[in-house]
Amino acid sequence: MQKDKEELSIGRFQRLIANAYVTRDKERGIERTFLWFVEEVGELARAIKRGGQSELEEEFSDVLAWLVSLATLLNVDMEKAARRYLNGCPKCKSSPCTCPMQR
Ligand SMILES: [Zn+2]
Repeated sequence: MQKDKEELSIGRFQRLIANAYVTRDKERGIERTFLWFVEEVGELARAIKRGGQSELEEEFSDVLAWLVSLATLLNVDMEKAARRYLNGCPKCKSSPCTCPMQR
């Protein structure tokens, strides 16, 4: 199977990112890694304003990579965390969510 067509779970993505970056991330530490994550969120905001599809995809992947890096540093298993949503909204247990709309 072509590598770009493979199914990629969140857990496997977290392991891939950890293999690539965990040593550097540990050296940088949680606070500075969090700042990088926030900076990437800012870049995503700019990409949303400008709206180029390939730029959006790139910024979403960067935000996700920094998010799972942070989770690894804080010993959070993102596969397990994502499973909170497996049966729909964790609050009302429905899908679609039936909670009062928040704006
Ligand atoms: Zn809900």
